[in-house]
Amino acid sequence: MCGIVGYVGNRITSEVLLDGLKRLEYRGYDSAGIALLPETPGKEITCVKSVGKVANLAAEVRKYPELSRMCTPGIAHTRWATHGAPNTPNAHPHCDEKKRFAVVHNGIIDNYLDLKKHLIERGHVFASDTDSEVVAHLLSECYQGDLLSALAAVVKQL
Ligand code: GLU
Repeated sequence: MCGIVGYVGNRITSEVLLDGLKRLEYRGYDSAGIALLPETPGKEITCVKSVGKVANLAAEVRKYPELSRMCTPGIAHTRWATHGAPNTPNAHPHCDEKKRFAVVHNGIIDNYLDLKKHLIERGHVFASDTDSEVVAHLLSECYQGDLLSALAAVVKQL
């Protein structure tokens, strides 16, 4: 069963997220990942993922020295695959193409194939085989400056 961690605060975000994921390891998982908002608005979200243990993810995170000082809001996930193989592209978080939105998700989106087909027709390029990734792309379609409204519009479609 997947695990989800979110953090907003003044501590080093990647450390808090990795610690949170370690505490959730008992739930079982096949891959893990984190995403952090940029320090400068308008820049891309930083997303780091890895197959296997949280220790593998921690090693991957060390390759991004800027993450060892960033205190921006972040999310993290340990995945239990239902749609798509347990590999790095399918690990969460999932982002839209412009990396403005990052999503972690627990469960199954039954109508994801219809949504994905529609999004591909509109020019979206998918990076994974998961059902979850449609949410990031739908957010980028629905966002007009207010995240809560965009999220409400997305949830209606799921
Ligand atoms: N259905 C999603 C996937 O396969 C979420 C799995 C989970 O709950 O960890 O990526």
